[in-house]
Amino acid sequence: MRTSAERSFARRAQQALADSTLRAAVRKAQERFRTGKRNAEAELGHWEAWRRLGEAIRRHTIENLDFYLEQLADNVEKNGGTVVFAATEREAVDYVVQVAREEGARRVVKSKSMVSEELHLNRALEALGVDVVETDLGEYIIQLAGEPPSHIIAPSIHKNRRQIAELFSRVAGEALPDDTPSLTRFARRQLRRAFLEADIGITGCNFAVAETGTIVLVSNEGNARLTTTLPRVHIAIMGAERIVPTWDDLDVMLHLLPRSATGQKITSYVTAISGPRRAQDADGPEAFHLVIVDNGRLDILGTAYQDVLHCIRCGACLNVCPVYRHIGGHAYGSVYSGPIGKVLTPLLGGMDEWHELPHASSLCAACSEACPVRIPLHELLIEHRTEQVTRGTRPWAERWAFRLYRWVVTRPALYRRAVRWARRLLAPLADGEGKVRVQIGPLKGWTAQRDLPLPARQSFLDWWEEEGRKEAARQHEPRTEGEGRDGERSA
Ligand code: SF4
Repeated sequence: MRTSAERSFARRAQQALADSTLRAAVRKAQERFRTGKRNAEAELGHWEAWRRLGEAIRRHTIENLDFYLEQLADNVEKNGGTVVFAATEREAVDYVVQVAREEGARRVVKSKSMVSEELHLNRALEALGVDVVETDLGEYIIQLAGEPPSHIIAPSIHKNRRQIAELFSRVAGEALPDDTPSLTRFARRQLRRAFLEADIGITGCNFAVAETGTIVLVSNEGNARLTTTLPRVHIAIMGAERIVPTWDDLDVMLHLLPRSATGQKITSYVTAISGPRRAQDADGPEAFHLVIVDNGRLDILGTAYQDVLHCIRCGACLNVCPVYRHIGGHAYGSVYSGPIGKVLTPLLGGMDEWHELPHASSLCAACSEACPVRIPLHELLIEHRTEQVTRGTRPWAERWAFRLYRWVVTRPALYRRAVRWARRLLAPLADGEGKVRVQIGPLKGWTAQRDLPLPARQSFLDWWEEEGRKEAARQHEPRTEGEGRDGERSA
């Protein structure tokens, strides 16, 4: 799961915050995606009804996952494919490596697959001496850069055109112009060659239709179609939750996914694959393998986090997240970034290692609002935090600080005295605008990133009481003749 050598989220976030190119690129892309989604929702109409329908389908599927997994596997096998259930990352990788070995593969082309990133599959294939080429343009860019994806649907969202031109120029051995047509022309030339030479094509799976055993891929570049058609072997890798029961259900998902992801009515290509090439087919692979990956997903079933399995990986939650906006995807340190990553990564990778992620949120709930299948992401983040507190895994300083806070706020007289004392103690540390900057102790980190205003000269409670006293005094003032109760002169 880990994609960064730097183990502290705070350090990674600081590095990202200092990178103005990254921040500008992420901001621009986020705005483009968000506007596109808003327009696409309005154009479709009844967006809330579509979301509820999507949520119902995902809930039903996940609640009956064992049944649909079996149905899917049976149908893929009926179609002539091979199905493998991989309980762990190791099992999934070993299977793909074994197929590559048996096929004597020297080159593999891949279309975008987040689950293969999760498995670090490229590394294992490269160790076998296989040349792996990512064929999604964004994935190709980050492969050349030696970086992991920084967004679920736009893996190179953090790169601008100049940086991409530098990467491509390195491969070309000459300086390429940084205009989009030249860059895409160069990538196309490189990738076409790779498609023609590949022995195996590896794809992800946006949805698997259980009733017919069909893998569905949505893409905009046509690379998925070439990956699944030209090489003699196709291996599709899917997370165990990526099932829809029927084609009618898929129809709903295809209304939600492209609109939420890129603001498109439909992607340029929707590819449906039901097994290997049949005798009457003009093209297609000789062999088709479906690797269904658990890797911790099935442990989420029946827990408070089950809704996270409804995710259709559209990336909409990333596009509205204020934290993602400032730090991009790499700072999360995991394959899955943004709000979905903050919920999912600790579940798949373990809370001990990923304990910081649920705290990288302002809990504004914009992600939950954006999610096309209504996953309550902010509530799941609170659930993670609650669990950390219940298990007593938060730092002792934080635990004692909250205990002390509770002790004080449940004693009103003490609380008011404490606020007055806090003002006196903090006043020397305040700047001209009344913002406190603490340079030592646990508050140092807090005030480095946030404003800590000096407590007001008079607390609200003190002001309220004072106003009450003044009002009472006014009520008891003797009235002069001709004045009403409120001091008005009567007619
Ligand atoms: S959690 Fe929702 S918004 Fe985020 S990627 Fe998944 S489906 Fe999309």
